[in-house]
This record gives sequence, structure tokens and C-alpha cells, in this order.
Amino acid sequence: MSKPDQLRRFLFDKANIRGEIVQLNEVWQTMEANHQYHPVIREYLGEAVAAAVLLSATIKFEGSLTIQASGDGPLSLMVVECRSSFGVRGVAKYKEPLPEQTDIKTLLGKSNLIITIEQALTNERYQGIVALEGNSIAEFLEGYLQHSEQLETRIFLAADKQAVGGLLLQQLPGKTEDDDSWDRITHLGSTIQKEELLELKATEIIHRLYHEEDVRLFDPEPVHFQCSCSREKVSNMLRSIGEEEAAGIIKEQGNISVDCEFCGTTYDFDEIDIAEIYASNNPATTSTTRH
Ligand SMILES: [Zn+2]
Repeated sequence: MSKPDQLRRFLFDKANIRGEIVQLNEVWQTMEANHQYHPVIREYLGEAVAAAVLLSATIKFEGSLTIQASGDGPLSLMVVECRSSFGVRGVAKYKEPLPEQTDIKTLLGKSNLIITIEQALTNERYQGIVALEGNSIAEFLEGYLQHSEQLETRIFLAADKQAVGGLLLQQLPGKTEDDDSWDRITHLGSTIQKEELLELKATEIIHRLYHEEDVRLFDPEPVHFQCSCSREKVSNMLRSIGEEEAAGIIKEQGNISVDCEFCGTTYDFDEIDIAEIYASNNPATTSTTRH
């Protein structure tokens, strides 16, 4: 039986601490199947995917959360999106060969991580800048949540070719009955091994770490691969490059073919398609200026 793609939330009621475990298998394999990522890049992208799901699950929203890095290092772009319905996608772009130093800071170069939350209902957009303080994606995000949200958080991430996994622990606002609980629970959390995060069931991880604690476990929530690309969006993109440029490509290549970097879908446009795109854009001017 294939392993599930899911998020599992749990709560330490007395300690007012929330926990989440995300584990993706098929979803992750789908995401990286269209690319031949270098193992190092694959690991960082996988960690970012796990992080995006964990963070999405800590906020109440309807829309999408994106973690993006674009710097001047060899890893020139990494972008991961998780929708509130737990539909995820992600892609990384990098230059080869990678340098000898392959820690995430060297690869990103001069860069920040940007977290964007888009609220679908209100069209509101919130952006937070995550400084690269620390030595891992998990540490960058912990620092960000501490500084800008005043939320004590510990994050543990793991990724290989088959799977990604993540564990998040977060102190919720409010009183706790048990003063040492944060130290104790995060210390236990920090003993988690990467292989355990990737291979054990979430319930086994929780049992292994917290069998002596009072834990309330919630039902698993499925996570799926979701790409929001569409022919319409690609049409809009083509519209923005301008009719002349599009006509030039058609003349040279016969058609315009656009591949979605996230899911690999190819969108083809021939001369008639392109004419329609610009006709629907601005019917009055296109018909008069062409004659
Ligand atoms: Zn797509």
C-alpha cells in the first residue's frame, strides 16, 4: 500500500502547544518527477514544501501561502505554494555545477525568503520577509515567526527522493498549567531523526516522542498536488508580451508552446489562437490597425 500524503495536527492541551506533522510521498514524487534535480536542490525544495504545508496549517485563511526565494546564488529561484485546501506545488531553478559549499545560504546567495499569503475572498495580500538567519530553512522560519509574529516555534524538516516530512511545534498564546512544558516538548521533538520523519507513521512519531504527555490527536487531512496553471493564464501572459513579439515567434517557430514549470503541462498556441488572444484583448484597435 502506498504511504499517505497528509497533515496530522495534535495538541498538548495543558501546555497550550500545537503540533503538526506533514508527510508527503506520491505528491512529492509527482512534484519532482518532471525535473532532474540535483540531490541537494531536491532536498531543499522538499524541505520548503514541507514547511509551506506546516505554516499553512497554522493560520486560518482561504487562499494560498507561498514561500519564495530568488537571490544571486546558484539556486536562483525556489518557489513553493500551498493552498488552504492543502494543494501544493513547487519548483526550483539553479545553475550547474553547484559549488562545493552546498549549504542553503551559499546556494541562495544574497537573498531573503518571502512569505506571501493571499486571501482569496478579500483579495488581500500579506507579505513577510524572512531573513536568512541560521543555517537551515527550518531555522530561518523559526526566527521569522519569533521576530515578526512573536510565536515560539520549532520546525524540523526532512526530504529525500521518495518523501518529505516535517514536524512543527508552536507555543500558543495563553496560560499554561505546566511551566517546563515548552522546553520539555521541544527537547523531545529535537530528538526526531530525519529517517523517522520520512518513514514512520505520524502516530508512531507522536507515540515515540510523546507517550508520556497528554496529546490530543486530530484526524489526518489529505494533501494533494495542485497546479493552478490554465490555458487562460498562459493566454494572459502571452497578451502581456505584446502582439508583435508573439507574431514574431509564430513566424519563426510556427506556433508558441509554453510549458508549466510546476506540472509540466504544455500549452500550444497556433497563429489563429494568437490572433484570438489579441482580438479579445482590444477588438476595436486590433481590427483597425491591422489594415
Ligand atoms: Zn501547471
